[in-house]
Amino acid sequence: MDPKDSVLQLKGVGPKKAGALEKLNIRTVEDLMFFLPRDYEDRRKRTRICDMTDGEVTGVECEVAAVVSGGYRYGRKRTLRVTVTDGTGAMEVIFFNAAYLKNAFGKGERYLFFGKAERRAGRVQMIHPDFCRASEAKEGIMAVYPLTKGISQREMRAWQEAVRPMYAVAEDFLSEGFREENRLCDMEYALENVHFPTERQKMLEARYRLIFDELLVMQTGMMAARHMTDENTGGIAFSKEADVSKYIDALPYELTGAQKRCVDEIERDLESGRMMNRLVQGDVGSGKTAVAEIAMYKAVMSGYQAVLMAPTEILARQHFEGMKKAFEPYGIGIGFLSGSLKAAGRRETLEGIKSGRLQVIIGTHAVIQPEVEFHRLGLVITDEQHRFGVRQRVKLKEKGENPNVLVMTATPIPRTLSVVLYGDLDVSVIDEMPPGRQKIATRSVGGEKREKCYDFVEEQLKAGRQAYVVTPLIEESDAMDVRSATQVADELKRRFGDYSVALIHGAMKQDEKDRIMEDFYGGKTDVLVSTVVIEVGINVPNATVIVVENAERFGLAQLHQLRGRVGRGSHRSYCFLIFDGGSETARKRGEIMESSSDGFYIAEEDLKLRGPGEIFGTRQHGLPDLKIADLSRHLRIMEHARREARAVIRRDPELKDVENGGLRHRVVKMFGDDLSLDL
Ligand code: ADP
Ligand code: MG
Repeated sequence: MDPKDSVLQLKGVGPKKAGALEKLNIRTVEDLMFFLPRDYEDRRKRTRICDMTDGEVTGVECEVAAVVSGGYRYGRKRTLRVTVTDGTGAMEVIFFNAAYLKNAFGKGERYLFFGKAERRAGRVQMIHPDFCRASEAKEGIMAVYPLTKGISQREMRAWQEAVRPMYAVAEDFLSEGFREENRLCDMEYALENVHFPTERQKMLEARYRLIFDELLVMQTGMMAARHMTDENTGGIAFSKEADVSKYIDALPYELTGAQKRCVDEIERDLESGRMMNRLVQGDVGSGKTAVAEIAMYKAVMSGYQAVLMAPTEILARQHFEGMKKAFEPYGIGIGFLSGSLKAAGRRETLEGIKSGRLQVIIGTHAVIQPEVEFHRLGLVITDEQHRFGVRQRVKLKEKGENPNVLVMTATPIPRTLSVVLYGDLDVSVIDEMPPGRQKIATRSVGGEKREKCYDFVEEQLKAGRQAYVVTPLIEESDAMDVRSATQVADELKRRFGDYSVALIHGAMKQDEKDRIMEDFYGGKTDVLVSTVVIEVGINVPNATVIVVENAERFGLAQLHQLRGRVGRGSHRSYCFLIFDGGSETARKRGEIMESSSDGFYIAEEDLKLRGPGEIFGTRQHGLPDLKIADLSRHLRIMEHARREARAVIRRDPELKDVENGGLRHRVVKMFGDDLSLDL
């Protein structure tokens, strides 16, 4: 056997099992070796039947008293019932659909059963426990693997046992010296103790090593891609003479204290001559855009261009419209670039960017296309940064020579993730809302209150306000029992006969979307029914009520973002979350939304409710999938790996040294085409 062999080489693996394994991304022996348990069971535990409590997971050695096969009890499943005794009591062991086990148990023979005991009205039973002959019982800690349909723990454990001899030949890409310095165990020890631990401590050491490996590979890859430009790199110093106070004084409002602090921090960075790398984190509506404008103004007054990239066309356009008004009085040339521009307009814009006539450029991903050449790029801003991948950010930065970088996000990101995503970004937090903002009254209700909600919407419309209605889907779907945007829009058109109701969704043509948004901004439309296209950043201060249909389909962070569409002006604002069924978690989300308006708190609760897997789905952040490491929990290991990754990259930025060959191989495997690495 060789680690590279297909799993088909293993006993008990045929095409069918191989297919199931493939679902777990296991194709080779090596994949199997690195397929880690999700949990462990302490198989040393034993409980006498008379002492078993309901729900207890434990083991018991018993003698078989009776075996009854067949029968269609418990619904329509064919069952096998084995009655066993241990001298202190009797227990019933039940297997469903288990005709194959019929001859597994002999009367009078002794077995060890391990599973969850259920105790009801004096009767004790275990459903589908693990079992083996008492004489073959293995004591110790047992790995529990995350599985898929068609594979049992028994099988997985047997295959792990089968590949166990391969641990000794597993390649260890970390040298002995490195391991010693970092107090990491070797690969063989790691694999042995992660699959077959004898002690908790050893298992923890083993896991540490494997988690470390994964995080080291990830961060080495990302740092290599960034060429480490984020470290003390010489940057562009903006002029101290470029005075932003003129711009600030002309704003129709006074900056909040938090905005002022943030602007100061940015200005200091910009004048320092070191490249700025700053993250501005501020809740929805805290006024990040004004801060971005001030930074851009500073760039332009220093003789540089500034570019702002937004994740959606609608958002980019909104920024463009707003900034055009803000910058034109100063004679600043401002341009818009997106995929939807017509050829002629596009050519003109590209020319303007190249010649420097356009000093401020707002756009979507289109701004990172190769054809876009800047004249003198000094500042790069990304809005709602978390939506962009690593690669896109690197590309944008490469449009200039170490331009200053500002990233803005309303999504609070846990520390671990921000370290990975942004490296050593400095962070400014806008933790204060502009004055006069009122808390958005939030109600989460069941479907039976829908009518009442819309009655309320109607009152708001009568008072001259506007409303958003958000649904999870565009069209009706047989698969999902939810109200679609199209359907809701039709209903509301009938219901609000005196008002104008518009529908907008992601599948529409750009110019159509633009027209609809324009009408809504301008107050020509009263109600905007949409899918989540309005989720980020849209700013219509006259809109005071938002209704979210099938709120159970949205995550907390998303609901918070949606709610942030209202309450942006001086009018009191409202949010209705309509839950049609949905799980316990969904209801909990409703409660949290009612009780809090603090984005950071909500994000934390979201984490707790959803669990790390979902929220840290690293793909959505443009990161590779992690198999073992969990960014929400492994902060300490992360920081350790990060230190080492940095040391490696500093010595060998392109991973060309022979001793880094194994690491390089791993990096390439993890990132594939996702990073523009010339490795
Ligand atoms: P976000 O942080 O969500 O991007 P915006 O920058 O879109 O928030 O600002 C939301 C609204 O608040 C805008 O209408 C903006 O003009 C307004 N605003 C920003 N700063 C202030 C301030 N200091 N005082 C009053 N209104 C402000
Ligand atoms: Mg914004």
